[in-house]
Amino acid sequence: MKEFDPIEKVAGSVRGLSAYVPGEQPSGGGWVKLNTNEFPYPPSPRVAEAVASQISGDCGSLRLYPDPVSSALREEIGRYFGVGAENVIATNGSDELLNLAVRAFSDSEKSVAALDPSYSLYPVLAKMQASGYLPIDFGEGMSVPYDQIFSCGANMFIFTNPNAPTGMAWGEDVVRRIAEGFDGIVLVDEAYGPFSGYTASGLVGEYENLIVAGTMSKGWGLAGMRVGWAVASEKIIGILDRVRDSYNLDRLAQAAGIAALRDTQYYEKFRAKVLRTRGETEDFFRSLGWSFPESSSNFIFVTPVDSRGNSGFEVANDLFEFLKARKILVRFFPSIEKINMSLRITVGTDAQMAALKAAIGQWLSAR
Ligand SMILES: *Cc1c(COP(=O)(O)O)cnc(C)c1O
Repeated sequence: MKEFDPIEKVAGSVRGLSAYVPGEQPSGGGWVKLNTNEFPYPPSPRVAEAVASQISGDCGSLRLYPDPVSSALREEIGRYFGVGAENVIATNGSDELLNLAVRAFSDSEKSVAALDPSYSLYPVLAKMQASGYLPIDFGEGMSVPYDQIFSCGANMFIFTNPNAPTGMAWGEDVVRRIAEGFDGIVLVDEAYGPFSGYTASGLVGEYENLIVAGTMSKGWGLAGMRVGWAVASEKIIGILDRVRDSYNLDRLAQAAGIAALRDTQYYEKFRAKVLRTRGETEDFFRSLGWSFPESSSNFIFVTPVDSRGNSGFEVANDLFEFLKARKILVRFFPSIEKINMSLRITVGTDAQMAALKAAIGQWLSAR
């Protein structure tokens, strides 16, 4: 075998890099999966029809490359948000969009900033570009620290709205103020937008520096299909298209995305159901005296308290393990000190939440 150590050949920006670790996708059945904020209901039945029509017969259509620019999907996304197809890029999940934006707008001299805590993929993407990453602390009472954002010197600011992992959301006045005051690209990550009822997409005609990113993973039950997008000025879309893979979305994803976007009635109904379940779950946590920021998302970021009145890392860790042993998976961030006293719990079906509540009841009696 040839003597060769590939490590010596690794690009500088990749040398110190650790891959982003997403929430666990357990193998085998029987899990109550409340750890990655997937939609608890199946996608619209129109999706099954659209996918079936793509693979009917001998799957002959798969022999051919898909539409490289996903033009029909871009048009549908544009229709959904009331903008033109020229203001839309479709991507392989919104993770790809984030990657494209970081690739296009950051390098060793142009850094990326975001509020802390927020989505922990951002610093990994920045590092890949050898770009600086500036985490900006929230202000008093989790307020938006405008002065720090405006003076941070970053080239791009990512605003997660609603925020993950806290679930908090802000309205149009806040997005306008940031887009107005920040001297650079403002990327609003609206992965959880379908649950807050607000999107900043309508502002892209007014702010040439604004990118609004979305995904079908959380609000449309299509995490397994990988469909995401950005809405932005035509100029920005053109820049993002320069760094995109030529065939970034496969045929099935394009067809599924279009079908799901058209079935607004189905999603209104099931999102309303998620919001009702969210309210009931928040009531349950309130009845236990557990605190959480009021959620505008499909998850609740709650700080558990044991029956002796203790909370903190040990208590959160203990409940996380207790639930996991009962095949209930929630999200815990043990290594992030700022948030490791809390658990991020996806709003599931009523049956899933009943299982969660029963297990929490057992934990409280045992602790
Ligand atoms: C889930 C999530 C994404 C990425 O979703 P995709 O599945 O890649 O579309 C982006 N941002 C935030 C804040 C998320 O929670």
